[in-house]
Amino acid sequence: MNKVSRIPSYLSAEHLGPWDTFLVQIDRVEPHLSAELRPLAPVLTRPMRALIVNVPIRLDNGEMAHFEGYRVQHNLARGPGKGGIRFHPDVTLAEVMALSAWMTVKNAVVNVPFGGAKGGVRVDPKRLSTAELERLTRRYSSEIHILLGQDKDIPAPDINTNEQTMAWIMDTYSMNEGRTAMGVVTGKPVSLGGSLGRRDATGRGVFVATAEAARHLGMQIAGAKVAIQGFGNVGEAAARLFSDAGARVVALQDGSGSIFNRAGLDVRAVKAWRQQNRSLIGAPGAEAISADSFWSTDADILVAAALENQITAANAGLIRARILCEGANGPTTPEADLMLQEQGVTVIPDVLANAGGVTVSYFEWVQDISAFFWTEDEINARLDRIMREAFAAVWDAAQTRGLPLRTAAFVLGCERVLMAHKVRGLYP
Ligand code: NAD
Repeated sequence: MNKVSRIPSYLSAEHLGPWDTFLVQIDRVEPHLSAELRPLAPVLTRPMRALIVNVPIRLDNGEMAHFEGYRVQHNLARGPGKGGIRFHPDVTLAEVMALSAWMTVKNAVVNVPFGGAKGGVRVDPKRLSTAELERLTRRYSSEIHILLGQDKDIPAPDINTNEQTMAWIMDTYSMNEGRTAMGVVTGKPVSLGGSLGRRDATGRGVFVATAEAARHLGMQIAGAKVAIQGFGNVGEAAARLFSDAGARVVALQDGSGSIFNRAGLDVRAVKAWRQQNRSLIGAPGAEAISADSFWSTDADILVAAALENQITAANAGLIRARILCEGANGPTTPEADLMLQEQGVTVIPDVLANAGGVTVSYFEWVQDISAFFWTEDEINARLDRIMREAFAAVWDAAQTRGLPLRTAAFVLGCERVLMAHKVRGLYP
C-alpha cells in the first residue's frame, strides 16, 4: 500500500524521486483540505491508469531497436487528460506518474477543464535521425492510441518534443481514425491548427504571476533586478517580457554557464549571441560568473526556468531574492522549499507559475474544436486574465489560511479535483 505518511522525513528529502516528492506534497496539503473532501484525498495518491508500451522501430541501418514508452492518466475527474510527451533517456514510469499528477493540480489551479496526464519515451533523441524520430513518434502514438482523443486525452510538447512531433502525432492519430483530428494534440504548428501566442505563453504566464506577486508585496517591476536560470523557451520569453517592462535582467544561467551585468543585460543581444555561439559566455556586455555567484546574485526576483531539482539545501541559503518564480517543473526540492520559507522568500509554485503554457494549449484545443481562430491580442488578453485570477485565488487562500503559496495552490487545485469526485460519486 502506498500510504503517503510512510515517507520518513521531509528534512532528508533530497534523494526523493519525483513520485515520492508528489506524495510528500499531498501529505503536506491533506491537513488543510476541507473536512468534507479530506477523506477523498487518497484518490490523488494513485494514478487512475498507466500504460507501458514497447516501441519497436526500424533504424536507418536496417536494424531494429526497442524503446519503452508510457502514458499515464493521473486523474480525469474534471475533464480529458492533458499533459506533454517527453523524450529523454532518464524517463521512468515514476517520473511520468509524478508529472501527470502535477498536471492534474496545475489544470485545476488555473481552472481549465482538463484532468492530468503525461507521456514519455525512454530514448536519447539526439542519437536518432529525423526519419528514425518520426518512426518512433508514429509508433509510440499508435501504441497509446487507445487512450487518445480530443475528449479523452490530449498530449502536448515537453522536453525534446516540439511542434513537428505534435504534427506527426496529429497525423498518425488522424490516419488511424480515418479523419482529420485537429484537437487531439496541442502545441502544433500554426499552419496545422496551432495557436498564436503558444511559444511565449509559459514565459508570459511567469511574468504575469511574478508581477502580481510583486504588486502584493509592494514591489515595482520597473527597475527590479531579475536573475533567471534557463534561457530556453520559458526563460528567454520571461527575460524579454521583464526587460520590456523596465526590469533589469542582471543575471542569466543556462547549461553553458552564468553571466552578469549590474546595469541589466540586453536580452535580445544575448539571445542573438546564444543562437550564434551556443553559449551565454562572451555575450555583449556580460561578465561570466560562477554558479554560486549566480545563486547569490543581488536580485529582487529569481526565476527558475531550467530543470527540476536545481534549488537544493546546497544553494537555497545563497538566495537573496524576495520572490522565486518556478517556471520549471519541480525546480525546488522539498527541503529547500522549507529553507526558503524560513528565509522569507515568496515562492510562486510551478503549478501556478508555469501554467501559462497549458492555458494557451486549452485555447488551442477550444479553437480547434470550434474551428474558429483568435488573434494573438485576444489570446494574450485571455491568458493574462486567467493567470491573474488564478494568482488572486491562490494568494487569497494563502492569506486566509496562513499557508505558503505552494500549499495554498495545492489545496485549491486538489479541492477542485476532489469536489468533482464528490459530486460525481463513486462508480458503481
Ligand atoms: P528548453 O529546453 O527550451 O530550455 C531549458 C533551458 O535550461 C536551456 O536554456 C538550457 O540551457 C537550460 N539548462 C539545461 N541544463 C541546465 C543546467 N544544468 N543548469 C542551468 N541551466 C540549464 O526548455 P523549456 O521549454 O524552456 O522548459 C524549461 C522548464 O520549464 C522545464 O522544467 C519544463 O518542464 C518547464 N515547462 C515548460 C513549459 C513550456 O511551455 N515550454 C510549460 C510548463 C513548464
